Amino acid sequence: MAFLIDLLREGIKDTEIIDISEKVLEGGRISVEEALKLYKFADLTLLGFLAEELNRRKNGNKAYFITNIQINPTNVCIYQCDFCAFGVKPSDSKAYEMSVEEILTRIHNAYQKGAREVHIVGGIPAHWDYDKYVSLIKKIKETFPDIIIKAWTAVEIHHMAKISGKSYRDILSELKEAGLSALPGGGAEVFSERVRNLISPSKADGKAYIEIHKTAHLLGIPTNTTMLYGHVETVEERIRHMEEIRKLQDETGGFQVFIPLAYWPEGTRLGGKRTSAVDDLKTIALARIFLDNFKNIKAYWITLGERLTQVALNYGANDIDGTIEEERVVHSAGTDAEKGHSKEKLIEIIRKAGKIPVERDTFYNEVRIYA
Ligand code: SF4
Repeated sequence: MAFLIDLLREGIKDTEIIDISEKVLEGGRISVEEALKLYKFADLTLLGFLAEELNRRKNGNKAYFITNIQINPTNVCIYQCDFCAFGVKPSDSKAYEMSVEEILTRIHNAYQKGAREVHIVGGIPAHWDYDKYVSLIKKIKETFPDIIIKAWTAVEIHHMAKISGKSYRDILSELKEAGLSALPGGGAEVFSERVRNLISPSKADGKAYIEIHKTAHLLGIPTNTTMLYGHVETVEERIRHMEEIRKLQDETGGFQVFIPLAYWPEGTRLGGKRTSAVDDLKTIALARIFLDNFKNIKAYWITLGERLTQVALNYGANDIDGTIEEERVVHSAGTDAEKGHSKEKLIEIIRKAGKIPVERDTFYNEVRIYA
């Protein structure tokens, strides 16, 4: 350790950055202000070095993937968030809704190929009642008892509360009873009220997101969590977002993974530009450094693309998500990544990043190490 710190002192002139780096290497928790300084003034290589050092202490040289299927049952959505190219009105020529039979067939096909998790998120149509959300979970669990269902974002849970008059606690209990095992992390965007008023004023806000995830954790439902970055937020707002997440993780320990999601602007009303690779890597590295109570930081291959995902695995990330089969949400906004990958391809991506591929389940239990 002393050797690493001496090395830093030789190469870096900014004493504040050296002090923060030393704190990080000694396992200390950095403040919002220190994180902001790192993002603004530390160079990318230093951030990557610090993040990867912390990652290796927690995960060694392993990087995780899962054999799963993502189902986006419909893209019809009443909320029409300006940053989203996926949610459309019912009259839109791109509008679709899968039948329950179609969903079961898709899961069946993925199950035959070894999928152990179904991840379900979608638009929020006006005509779906509360029972539709619960009965879909029940039907999937009855048909595939040993598949793990990770479904409905906090935005969908909040909407269920609105249309049913039920509490978050009752809804999550009923979904758990029906067969739901975990919540995905979508819908967090950036918690700042200023940002949400600009990009998604009408759906569940940051407070509701945190309350729903906390309720899930207290009911024994683990959850993922995300941050959609690269639109109208400042770097400080990103870090404040992560601070809220870090606080709840201190309280409950119920988050399994943090997933920074790069914004894709194509086809959105908000528009804007794609994030740079440097911003993507800095954000992932900073997440690893700031979120000292997380074991897992994901480089989502759908938003980053395969090559940047490989770099991110050396900048603090230890997970790349899964085979997915057919992702539709980010593809609506222009990502040029494939819609899904074979298990063999994910293993190759991880191997070529210099890491040991490990297949995991939803809860980050190791299923198989591809040494
Ligand atoms: S982000 Fe979610 S809630 Fe907003 S329009 Fe898209 S699908 Fe609907």
